[in-house]
Amino acid sequence: MPRYDLLIKQATLIDPAGGQVDVVRDIGITDDRIETVGEEIFEEEAATVIDASEVYVSPGWIDLHVHVWDGVADLAIPGDPNCLGKGVTTAYDAGSAGADTYPGFQKYVIDVSATRFKAFLHISSQGQLTKGIGELEDLRYADVDRAIRMCEEYREDIVGIKIRMSRNIVGENGREGLKRAREVCETTGLPLMLHPNASPMSLAEMLNEMRSGDVMTHCFHKSDTGVIDTDGKVRPEAVKATQEDGILFDVGHGAGSFAFEVAEAAMSQSLLPGTISSDLHKYNVEGPVYSLALTMSKFLHLGLSLENVIEKVTAAPAQAMGVLGEIGTIREGGCADLTLFKVKEEEVELRDAIGGIRTGDRTIEHVSTVRGGRLYAPGVFD
Ligand SMILES: [Zn+2]
Repeated sequence: MPRYDLLIKQATLIDPAGGQVDVVRDIGITDDRIETVGEEIFEEEAATVIDASEVYVSPGWIDLHVHVWDGVADLAIPGDPNCLGKGVTTAYDAGSAGADTYPGFQKYVIDVSATRFKAFLHISSQGQLTKGIGELEDLRYADVDRAIRMCEEYREDIVGIKIRMSRNIVGENGREGLKRAREVCETTGLPLMLHPNASPMSLAEMLNEMRSGDVMTHCFHKSDTGVIDTDGKVRPEAVKATQEDGILFDVGHGAGSFAFEVAEAAMSQSLLPGTISSDLHKYNVEGPVYSLALTMSKFLHLGLSLENVIEKVTAAPAQAMGVLGEIGTIREGGCADLTLFKVKEEEVELRDAIGGIRTGDRTIEHVSTVRGGRLYAPGVFD
């Protein structure tokens, strides 16, 4: 019996949390665990060997914002083809399900997918079911007790509470909806993920209701409640939130929530995103988002190093969700979730969510994925 089930040979690691960047290692995997990370493991010791000498290997990518309640939430898409099939080993559904629909999401998505899915439960009990009617236009959906009960029942997989604060979604109920979401977070100890675009509350007012560990997604959206003021300056409340208050600013690219001009203004004034996520859903998967990999490529273009970009889809989201060590790094004893990828030097047209176009010179391309010790070749879910 070979000692390892799977051996990844000659991998150039990009593992920021493990301090292993641009070093070449062999990785021996047994069952779902990384057993050995070493300079040389002999091929005879493994049942299956992958030559990784032409690619980079990072911890499995983590997408903090997707919608995969396929067939139920209007905007959702099939999970495995769009996550694991594109290099993402762990993804967080951002509020597709609420207390009315969550048990189905657990049963038909989380429990049966190859991707590790977790969920932010929407404060609206219907989740993001329909497109035409905002989920908080009727406050009866924001049932605090039912949300708390659901969080308690599904403690393993519900990791936070989601609210969308846009005027056309909350109607007159923005403040009360947010108050109720806050109440669920206080009782359960779970973080809040807040979508701030075009809100009836100002950025400062919303941030006032957020606590350390909470997530401000769509952090580079271009509406009046964004991080850049009308003079092009970063709003001080955004700086304070990220630097002093422990609020995580997450990209959540989406179909309308990422603007190059906002990202450029913010990043040039030192306001960086904490995590890079896609907000992949039905209305952006055919463009402009396509994948987490392309979203990551946009941040290479914006000036982050490859190491920084990888950190924001591995260690940073894992740390935020309290699972760094199990995932988010390449470590003996850790879960064998790995993403194999290339960086292609080629001219590429990059599109944001509001019509902005930039020309990049590098793209990150997923090659294959190991999830829980099992190898997933490209196209396996097509
Ligand atoms: Zn979303």
